[in-house]
Amino acid sequence: MGARPFTVAIIGGGFSGAVAAIKLLDTAAGQPLRVRIIEPRPEVGRGLAFSTTDPAHYLNAPARLFSVHADRPDHLVHWLTVQDAADDIPLPASGQIADAFVPRRLYGAYVRAELARAEAEAGVNGIVEHLRAEAVDLTLDPAEDGAGGVRVALSDGRTMGADVALLATGFAGNQPSFAVSERAAADRRYAADPWTLADQDAPRDGTVLFVGGGLTMLDALVTLERKGFRGTYVSVSRHGLLVHERREPPPARDFLGEAHPGSARALLARVRHELRDIAASGGDWQSVVPIIRARLASLWSGASPEERARFNRHLRRYWELALHRSPQPSVETFAAAVAQGRVTTRAGRIEAVGTSLDGRAEVRLRPRGGTGTEHLIADLVVNCTGAEYAWPRQQGRPLVANLLARGTVRPGGLGYGIDVNADAAVLDHAGKASGRIYGIGPILRGTRWESTTIVEIVAQATAFADRVADRHLARRTPATSPSRASAA
Ligand SMILES: Cc1cc2nc3c(=O)[nH]c(=O)nc-3n(C[C@H](O)[C@H](O)[C@H](O)COP(=O)(O)OP(=O)(O)OC[C@H]3O[C@@H](n4cnc5c(N)ncnc54)[C@H](O)[C@@H]3O)c2cc1C
Repeated sequence: MGARPFTVAIIGGGFSGAVAAIKLLDTAAGQPLRVRIIEPRPEVGRGLAFSTTDPAHYLNAPARLFSVHADRPDHLVHWLTVQDAADDIPLPASGQIADAFVPRRLYGAYVRAELARAEAEAGVNGIVEHLRAEAVDLTLDPAEDGAGGVRVALSDGRTMGADVALLATGFAGNQPSFAVSERAAADRRYAADPWTLADQDAPRDGTVLFVGGGLTMLDALVTLERKGFRGTYVSVSRHGLLVHERREPPPARDFLGEAHPGSARALLARVRHELRDIAASGGDWQSVVPIIRARLASLWSGASPEERARFNRHLRRYWELALHRSPQPSVETFAAAVAQGRVTTRAGRIEAVGTSLDGRAEVRLRPRGGTGTEHLIADLVVNCTGAEYAWPRQQGRPLVANLLARGTVRPGGLGYGIDVNADAAVLDHAGKASGRIYGIGPILRGTRWESTTIVEIVAQATAFADRVADRHLARRTPATSPSRASAA
């Protein structure tokens, strides 16, 4: 009685931080535990992906794949059914919620409901605190009794202690590689954050230029269509590639096998060979995606830095478009705009966004393969180039700067995120694993490569909670936990 609860500081309360908290509470099952979630956003559990206010932004795969409990795959579908959420979800031909694409905003509500459920079941022994601030520093705190811990400094001047910290800081907005004039930004001719379009005035006509052609571009287009935009779109990307529609053919045979192909080039040759076979037999190229994905972590960890860089430079764009395909409802909106002749694509590099003589946006484009530049006029330019993964390039983030400067963490492969060991314990500048600081989610990009999807993050959060329970809490097995048994 009266034992000090074991305290975990979770820095970042997006999806990763929230699911880690759920798993910690469920796994502790009655042991005194305090989870301090440091998150400036008003709601824990949403982060970047699930804060969108646009009801037409969907998860990119069917509901049956996105339970936050890997051992209960029907959990989300069950929740949606109990919520009577069918009105908010376009039902597919099968009529099954399990096959439906769920609005991301609704999915955020599911994550939040699960956190509330886990907290309620933990009762007095599970304390969850939301500290609404930014963590600006994280230091090791050697205690007099040798137990040690961490201290977190917050942007509002407070500091707080914990036994263990989990870095769950997620995505960072990128600094575009092109210059944007102050006037274009002030005149709202340039949108740096595509997800704010839902909450602001948008043009009804004219031309919108997207920098990028992936799922972020699709989100922006869907929002603009919903807000009544009837003009034309230009999507500019380095190679003029566009997002694919998601189909779910049965997976191809395991053409990769166990042996490492040795190089990015050899991997590409094998994939191309398989794609030729699939095309010859009338199959669907998307059937190779789950096969590659299942092997990607081991391919990445077994690759040399040079081969990783080659993959990143030459193959990443194709892989990302193959993996991050579009949900059906968004495809329909996009296809309608294409059919109306309102979408064009350009391959090239944007060099600058300024203002034309008539006050619109003027974009300097260097077309791919060309020598000169072109000037395009648009009513709105939207940055859809995605996240900045490289920690050393992230500006204006004191926590990142402090952790790197002190050598508490070191950048992961290619400089992306942070380096961690197999237990997701962060490695310091000398490669020594921390017993106190762990990482989860997109910040493990450089170490694991695929570390951003819901499925991967749920697995990482579960493993983290198991580790905390094994090392720090007197563990009760799920089978003997009444709260777990009742949480179906
Ligand atoms: C638009 C979008 C759509 C997606 N759609 C899908 C999908 O359909 N299917 C799928 O499987 N995956 C999808 N993903 C990927 C997946 O959902 C995300 O990888 C996941 O939500 C990441 O969660 P996160 O908490 O790690 O990161 P984030 O969502 O980036 O959240 C991190 C949080 O940390 C906070 N933070 C950052 N720094 C600090 C600090 N110093 N102190 C305190 N707080 C801090 C931020 O405020 C933020 O709320 C999508 C991702 C995005 C961006």
